[in-house]
Formats: sequence, structure tokens, C-alpha cells
Amino acid sequence: MKKIAILGSTGSIGVQTLDIVREHKDDIQVRALVAHSNIKLLEDQIREFMPSLVCVYDEKSAKLLRENIKDIPVKVEAGMEGIIACATDETTDTVVTALVGMIGILPTIEAIKAGKNICLANKETLVTAGHIIMPLCKEKGVSLLPIDSEHSAIFQAIQGEEIKSAHKIILTASGGPFRGLKKSSLQAITPKDALKHPNWSMGAKITIDSATMINKALEVMEAVWLFDLPIDQIQVLVHPQSIIHSMVEYVDGSIIAQLGLPDMRLPIQYALFYPNRRTMKLGKRLDFAGLKQLTFEEPDMDTFFGLKLGISAGKLGGSMPTVFNAANEWAVARFLDGRIGFMDIPDLINKAMDNHRLISSPSLDEILKIENETYDFIEGIVESGK
Ligand code: NDP
Ligand code: MG
Repeated sequence: MKKIAILGSTGSIGVQTLDIVREHKDDIQVRALVAHSNIKLLEDQIREFMPSLVCVYDEKSAKLLRENIKDIPVKVEAGMEGIIACATDETTDTVVTALVGMIGILPTIEAIKAGKNICLANKETLVTAGHIIMPLCKEKGVSLLPIDSEHSAIFQAIQGEEIKSAHKIILTASGGPFRGLKKSSLQAITPKDALKHPNWSMGAKITIDSATMINKALEVMEAVWLFDLPIDQIQVLVHPQSIIHSMVEYVDGSIIAQLGLPDMRLPIQYALFYPNRRTMKLGKRLDFAGLKQLTFEEPDMDTFFGLKLGISAGKLGGSMPTVFNAANEWAVARFLDGRIGFMDIPDLINKAMDNHRLISSPSLDEILKIENETYDFIEGIVESGK
């Protein structure tokens, strides 16, 4: 019996993880759940899955939840300490990291230190602290398996192979809702426009990241850490149908791809049960005869300037991915608040990167400090309206 904690259980990945747990009740037990403030959904999840510990980051909401579930023996914690308590709970063996953003760094590190295997959705954690997390996993002898669909595809395509025989990774991208548009038509994009993804239904932050293609830059950096390949061996390829989830080209020219309909429950289930495959009863299956076409194109790095910036942040390495990621997190939140325009997102990231003095191998404290400095830097520009 696998015993899991889900950090971010009320989000898109969290809810779909619970869909998989529901299908495999005899093999997986939920021991701990974490949310920010959505206590209504969290209460439903608690009553259905009966974890022994939960955390609601927001103190006020945690207090309310304690009242609402007085009738059941579930401990409710709050704040970062509460998240870490769930991530390190001694009754679990596996932690699904589905928080959004850099808030996931500390709990992920603590979970690994406590010997938990990680099923990782929270890519921002690896982008910023991959140089700390990957060696720590090795030291602690724990696995860190990808949930991100592209990385799951690559992971599936390297089974039985040696990564040193890989010539390159071909990381596919849908291109988002604005594929084919030019900069001039993107100026007036509203949050409502950007929140409509053509193929995937996801949380707000990653949906905006997909619209700017910054998600793909984060995924390039995520792949570098997961598969230990130089960034130059990772090619981004736009594939609007999102059927091929990524591919690996080997030294002999052979290419192995993983295909399927866009449904995150497959990579989630694969990570939870690896190395076994389980029957998937949920969702539809790919019907090749019904597929009209699979098309491919180069990404437009001029219009989607954030992708180019992210790849350069990845090449610079050290603390630059933290600056790129933190600037993006803050800018996306301000775009969603209606305080800045869509094209301001890459512009602000660019300014933050220009302003930063690179540290080659930042410690955890330095990463968290740079994160806050970057938030302040972006907020300062947004406030002053420059
Ligand atoms: P959502 O916004 O849908 O969910 C985020 C979850 O994290 C919610 O449960 C939210 O709680 C919780 N949360 C946010 N902030 C805090 C906090 N400070 N303390 C505690 N809990 C918090 O995000 P997604 O599920 O879309 O994405 C999660 C991660 O997975 C991201 O890193 C994303 O890039 C990655 N990912 C997502 C994919 C997808 O299909 N959605 C695909 C591939 C990767 P509450 O509901 O209470 O706000
Ligand atoms: Mg992805």
C-alpha cells in the first residue's frame, strides 16, 4: 500500500491525483493534504479520503476548517510549518508536489530529507533549486519522478535506454492560445483571453505561462535537471495538437516518442505506480484513424520573447533561473490582477534579469532571498508605472 501526501490537493493536479487514488483505493492511501484556502473543496476531500493530517496555509481558513470538521479526527495545521509537517509526515512514503510556484521549494527539500519519494508537478522548485534537490535525492536514495506531461513522456521514452545514448530531447509545446499571432496583436490581450488554453485545463498561473510560452522555458530547465542533459541538447518544437507529449532522439537517429490524448491523469498515474503500468479507465483513448493531422513548427521566439529569455536564464544557470522564475511569478499575478499588460510580463522579467548579479551556485537561503528581492524589484516597477 502506497501512502501519500498531496501538497496542493485542491488544485488542478491535486484533484486529478485524487481521481487516480479513487480508482486504486486498495493500493493507495491518502495520509496528508495541503491547500492554500479552498476549505470547501478540502473538506469534501477530507471526508472522502480521511487523511490524518491536513494543512491550510491561510491561518484564518485553517481555523474555520477546524470548526467545520470537529466531528472527525483530522489534525489541521497552518502556514509553512504545517505544509512541512504534511510533507514529512512519518506515515507517508510518497509526496505529490502540486503546489504552484516557489513556495514548494522548502517542503520538497524537507520531504526528501525525510526520505520521501517525490512525484513532482511543481516545476518551479526544480527550476530554481535543481542543483540542491537532485544531489539530495541521490544522497537520500529517494526517487523524483516527473508528473509534467512532457517530462513523463521523456521518462517513458528512456526506459531501458542509457541517457548518454540520447542525442537530444525534443520537447513539444502546444504554442498556447496565441500561436501564430504577432507582438502587435498581443498588446491588448486580457486575462480572460489568456486563460483559455486550447488543449489543457490547468491552474491559472500555468495557463498564463503557456500563453506566454514561459512554461516551455521552465520545462527546458526542468528537463536539464531531471535528465542531466546539457541545455543545448533540448529542442523546443511546437506541436499544436498536443498528441506527441515529447520525444527522445538517440545517437543512431532513432526517435522514441510517447503519445496520448492530453490528460494529466496518465502521467500522474505513471509516476505513482512506476515502474508498473496500470489500467486507465478514466478518459478517452487516442484513435489514430480519427486523427486528422499532426503538425510541427519552430517556436516564434521573437513574439514569445519570454521563451528566449528563459532559455538564456537556463544557459547562464546559477541564480538566474530563480530571477527569471520569481519575476515571472510576480508579473503573472499582476497581469491576473489587471495591473499590467500581457506583453509586460516578458519585459519585466528582462529588466529583473538585467538588474541581477549572478551567483553561480546559490544556497537555499540565497535562492529565497533573491526570490524576495526579485518580487520587490518587479513590484517597484509596477508601482511606479515605468
Ligand atoms: P492550481 O493553481 O490549480 O493549484 C495550486 C494548488 O496549490 C491548490 O491546491 C492551492 O490551494 C495550493 N496552494 C497555492 N499556494 C499555496 C500556499 N501558499 N500554501 C498551500 N497551498 C497552496 O495549480 P496547478 O495544479 O495547475 O499546478 C500545480 C503545479 O503543477 C504548478 O507548478 C504547475 O506548473 C504544475 N503543472 C500543472 C499542470 C496542470 O495540468 N495543471 C501540468 C504540468 C505541471 P487553494 O486551492 O486553496 O488555492
Ligand atoms: Mg508540461
